[in-house]
Amino acid sequence: MADHYEVLGVSRDASDEEIKKAYRKLARKLHPDVNPSPEAAEQFKDVTHAYDVLSDADQRRRYDMGGDENPFGGGGGFGGFGDIFETFFGGGGGGGGGRPRERRERGEDALVHVKLGLGDVVFGAHRDIEIDTAVLCETCNGSCCQPGTSPERCDVCGGSGHVRTQVRSLLGNMVTTQPCGSCRGYGTTIPSPCVTCAGHGRVRSRRTVAVDIPAGVESGLRLQMPGSGEVGEGGGPNGDLYLQVEVEPHPSFSREGDDLLATLDVAMTDAILGATTSIDGLDGSVDLEIRPGVQSGDELKIAGRGITGLRSKNRGDLRVAVRVVTPTKLDHKQRQLIEEFAGRQKAEGPKLAEHHQGLFSKLRDKFRA
Ligand SMILES: [Zn+2]
Ligand SMILES: [Zn+2]
Repeated sequence: MADHYEVLGVSRDASDEEIKKAYRKLARKLHPDVNPSPEAAEQFKDVTHAYDVLSDADQRRRYDMGGDENPFGGGGGFGGFGDIFETFFGGGGGGGGGRPRERRERGEDALVHVKLGLGDVVFGAHRDIEIDTAVLCETCNGSCCQPGTSPERCDVCGGSGHVRTQVRSLLGNMVTTQPCGSCRGYGTTIPSPCVTCAGHGRVRSRRTVAVDIPAGVESGLRLQMPGSGEVGEGGGPNGDLYLQVEVEPHPSFSREGDDLLATLDVAMTDAILGATTSIDGLDGSVDLEIRPGVQSGDELKIAGRGITGLRSKNRGDLRVAVRVVTPTKLDHKQRQLIEEFAGRQKAEGPKLAEHHQGLFSKLRDKFRA
């Protein structure tokens, strides 16, 4: 181990004051807050230890006599000179100001709106979405430097990213810490910024993102795609991409939970006599059987032809409400036949239905498209 006096650069008969002064001077240069290099850290340890020993009268005497020394015992160790640190590092044993700012930053999250048809929701959909985003600069690979060059330690702040100013105030000398204006707090400067990205490590670009939207999504739902957002400053990690889903209304089908709802107009004669028909569902044609005597508001349920549940993965039902259509124009012959039918049918006249059986209670909310 080097001689403690040599480490501090003082003579063997240096006074306490000279030792203290020498230590302060070296600490200002070597303290990890000021100088992040590993060599400096090593040197700072030696300097600190030398000061630790020589500033304590008993230890200094023993050291002068060539006696054993306990490197970490005795004079208070690291905490023993808090008074010195508080004077020029703003307190806290050298913590003031913290580390230099990280040049690599996490990228921004991005939000993209995706329009879907109701048919896309039945089984889920695949989309290739074009987004304007930031991608890694391929010239510098995110280093921000022209190829072949590298960042240099900032001369102004010595690499700490902070500058300290001592201000005289009523309370005594105050040390304030501010980000270094020269390197904007990074502790390093870039002498030759990458020309492609102007030293940002990323460039704006249009990118296509392949997206699988699960079945059963609803308008307003946000899907998170971790790591698919922008590349950060200095080639930092990607943010996330959020897809906000908008399901466009369908002219014939609407949704209730995972069920699909539709209304089927049935001619009066088909309603009386019964009929079979098929409709175009969102996933192909659906056969429907209309029983004779079907009423407006009756529901035909086709199990398992609804929307695939977002979580359950089971399909809901297709529910088709019947609306009986009364003819509005009859020719002479048709009118005759209906009158004949009415004469044979001893029907009651119109009368009020009980409230809870009424058509509106069935139709009220469900079949509003
Ligand atoms: Zn670049
Ligand atoms: Zn600086």
